Amino acid sequence: MKDARSFYIDGAWVSTNGGTDAPVINPSTEEAFATITLGSAADADAAVAAAKAAFPAWSATTKAERLALLRRVHEVYLSRSADIAAAMSEEMGAPIDFANGIQTGIGAVHIDEYIETLEAFEFERPLNDAAPNDRIIYEPIGVCALITPWNWPLNQVTLKVGAALAAGCTMVLKPSEESPMSSMVFAEILHEAGVPAGVFNLVNGDGLGVGTQLSGHPDVDFVSFTGSTRAGTAITKNAADSVKRVSLELGGKGANIVFADADKDAVRRGALHCFNNTGQSCNAPTRMLVERARYDEAVAEAIAVAEGQTVDVAGKPGDHIGPLVNKTQFDKVQAMIDTGIKEGARLAAGGIGRPQDLNRGYFVRPTVFADVTNDMQVMQQEIFGPVLCIMPFDSEEDAIEIANDTPYGLTNYVQTTDPVRANRVARALKSGMVEMNGNFRSKGAPFGGFKQSGTGREGGSWGLEEFLEVKAVGGWFPET
Ligand code: NAD
Repeated sequence: MKDARSFYIDGAWVSTNGGTDAPVINPSTEEAFATITLGSAADADAAVAAAKAAFPAWSATTKAERLALLRRVHEVYLSRSADIAAAMSEEMGAPIDFANGIQTGIGAVHIDEYIETLEAFEFERPLNDAAPNDRIIYEPIGVCALITPWNWPLNQVTLKVGAALAAGCTMVLKPSEESPMSSMVFAEILHEAGVPAGVFNLVNGDGLGVGTQLSGHPDVDFVSFTGSTRAGTAITKNAADSVKRVSLELGGKGANIVFADADKDAVRRGALHCFNNTGQSCNAPTRMLVERARYDEAVAEAIAVAEGQTVDVAGKPGDHIGPLVNKTQFDKVQAMIDTGIKEGARLAAGGIGRPQDLNRGYFVRPTVFADVTNDMQVMQQEIFGPVLCIMPFDSEEDAIEIANDTPYGLTNYVQTTDPVRANRVARALKSGMVEMNGNFRSKGAPFGGFKQSGTGREGGSWGLEEFLEVKAVGGWFPET
């Protein structure tokens, strides 16, 4: 059993002041493999105090100093990639090749992205040519609370920590209690890279304990949160008394509109994307809307993908999908599959229960529901498991209406070879992101949602600006 009970506060690993032990469970085996501490209010306070004390010096560093540090973080991150991947694989069930690939690699991409953003960012600039005596100055907002989920652990952590470091902010990270181990490796990386004491602090804990203490703390200036809509609402309410800025990256229920003229790989690509990371991605294309002329063929293709998708333990090499993160998630996904059946959706592949030969671990069967209607719960609620819902549509207008008929608005997808229609549909979709014909957004593009998918943007200059205050100065003396 690994002992991971300490916190990283003010540049050192320290013991709790009143916290409680909690196990970290390997979802492939259902067995505990490490013990962490769920911090107390006093632990959160100590981390905030360290961040507050470090802020004056860190916020006064030059862009060149912060760039040098971020480059060093990037270098150490790459040297510790295998440790990060092993931690994620054990804590949240990412198959080891997938963990070594994109799950870990994406963190390096984000750090690099903030290096590029910082290089280009002007912290002081004139308002415009017509106002030579107006100056716009961007300043770090202050002490930041970073609260992250378990599904893409280091993706979310690096999106927040990278931006905070680039901006000149100090911070307290509270990673998900389901996936604390990879963040503890990340704290070691920041320490080795030479992040000054107090600039970055890590306290493990749950939402009601450390999470609530941080979001309501009078010395925290900004809460950057990624997770469920439920927790995002609670955080926003708790932060309101101290009028702090809150940025939310929440759930999604992405539509994938497949027109009859889509490329031949469109359905297969969409189904694989839905099952990727065992369906535990906020931007998963879980609602496939297919133009009727191609509908039956699409259902058959999706069934083939689901039945061809192997499921296995996270420690094994290969391109299989792993278990869900925990028992709660397993029970929830089983219940949603049951709901879909009872609502009258056609169970085309998968179903309730574990895949054959896996009678232990939180494994589920890749599932396809066909002939779904948009009022069904399986079409409206985020399932967060490998469950794809397919329904036909008759016109472009219908497809857009169905796609937008959801409380969420994170990522939607369009598959068509008609360029005019592609761009028209992209404009009409109510979501923070649209990806077309298998093209991902590029490095530096903003990530975030409309409607109940959130309020903020991460990545690139948009992500950096979340961590900055804007000051407008009139009567500025032009400098020579
Ligand atoms: P969660 O909301 O249960 O937990 C996320 C984090 O918030 C954890 O660290 C948790 O301890 C903390 N937390 C929970 N309640 C809190 C409270 N009241 N106050 C403060 N902190 C609290 O979410 P999860 O189950 O870990 O993650 C899955 C959810 O995250 C899904 O809904 C998914 O769509 C969403 N998500 C969104 C994005 C995005 O960028 N939009 C990315 C990944 C995941």
